[in-house]
Amino acid sequence: MVHFDVAVVGAGPIGSSAARHLAKAGLQVVLIGPDEPLDPDTHDGVFASHYDQARITRTIDPDPLWQRLAIISLQRYSEIERLSGITFYQRCGHISVASSKKGTLLAAIQASSEGSGKELNRLVNSDLARIYPDLKFPTAAEAFSDAAGGYINPRAFVKAQLKLAQQSGAVLLKEQVHSISANNDRVAITTPLRELEASRAIVACGCYTKWLMNLKQLKVQGRTVVLLELPDSEVQRLAGMPSIIFEGEEESDNCYILPPVRYPNGSSYIKIGGRPYDLPLESADDVANWFNQKTKQKNTQDLLSQLLKLVPLKYLTGETKNCVLTLTDSGRPIIDYSQKSERIVIASGGNGGAAKSAEEIGRLAAGLVSGAWFSMLDRKLFSLRT
Ligand SMILES: Cc1cc2nc3c(=O)[nH]c(=O)nc-3n(C[C@H](O)[C@H](O)[C@H](O)COP(=O)(O)OP(=O)(O)OC[C@H]3O[C@@H](n4cnc5c(N)ncnc54)[C@H](O)[C@@H]3O)c2cc1C
Repeated sequence: MVHFDVAVVGAGPIGSSAARHLAKAGLQVVLIGPDEPLDPDTHDGVFASHYDQARITRTIDPDPLWQRLAIISLQRYSEIERLSGITFYQRCGHISVASSKKGTLLAAIQASSEGSGKELNRLVNSDLARIYPDLKFPTAAEAFSDAAGGYINPRAFVKAQLKLAQQSGAVLLKEQVHSISANNDRVAITTPLRELEASRAIVACGCYTKWLMNLKQLKVQGRTVVLLELPDSEVQRLAGMPSIIFEGEEESDNCYILPPVRYPNGSSYIKIGGRPYDLPLESADDVANWFNQKTKQKNTQDLLSQLLKLVPLKYLTGETKNCVLTLTDSGRPIIDYSQKSERIVIASGGNGGAAKSAEEIGRLAAGLVSGAWFSMLDRKLFSLRT
């Protein structure tokens, strides 16, 4: 049986980033994870949270830990793009907007940034109206703008990381792992096609980490996004639009909006998502039924009305897509040894914000599986044992 130094299970944003760092360090790496399904309706395997064309990236955040992870990751985007020849970062700017001073978003961003030394650019409503005449915010709205923010294409990001990992010698197996276990001297992994051995492993399977590793610490929630297809004239009118996080008067008004982005079918879509209700998903079957939209969405109309309030639009052909979040009690990602063995590192718990920060989360997981912690951030903050 072929023996690897490290097996990385899950070829998503975090797993592909970890594999790149491990392979670059000269280790024999196998990365195991299937491609995106061609037809979600008939697919009977695993899904993932990065199957989309745009995820917000930003260097401002109400949580200092997430801010740090994002800033460090973003600093490496251009190197990854250059080395891979694959672009994924759109620096169109980002604004985090609060509908009034009553909210907590801007105060929390300010507190995080004070600690990090990052300078903030505050916009009052008249600034917002002048800079973004096509957007419509409440009269008391204020914002922080982030020129380095915008969005990344998570599919292209994964492609770039996989390409670089493979260039450094990582072996990619496009298979689904059925079991993983560790004894005193090795980790054993099974897929439908083979059995593998490695000295150590990282499990970065997004929400499926919960069931593969039997982790009650991870909670999986369904979320819906609404995409509106826009004609070229509207795409041009909205050119220069930033990615937006919006804190409303009511929690149910909170949302995020991505500017028009071209999708693989050739059409451009503007997208809104948010958190109007919780939908706990308790099993891999629940996740499959949610992704292939057999479970009904309830909040489509609310999201659509909110989008049209903030971005008045003329043409309306819409569709909805379902996705899942992998949540932790701390709201922060887990990068820690599994409870059963220090040969296995868990890297999951994206909490709806790990696409932009996967590069650094993957690097820290790669360090930990090699026995080192490569960060000024306290390792306990990423603990499984809270
Ligand atoms: C609607 C929505 C909006 C979001 N918006 C943002 C945003 O604006 N900005 C942001 O930064 N983040 C955002 N996120 C979060 C972000 O997409 C996730 O945090 C990120 O995708 C997590 O990466 P991951 O590698 O942990 O998991 P995933 O992306 O889920 O990847 C996990 C990988 O593991 C593989 N896998 C699963 N099970 C197995 C198995 N048994 N064997 C082998 N492989 C397996 C899957 O095939 C997949 O490739 C959003 C998420 C959602 C759902």
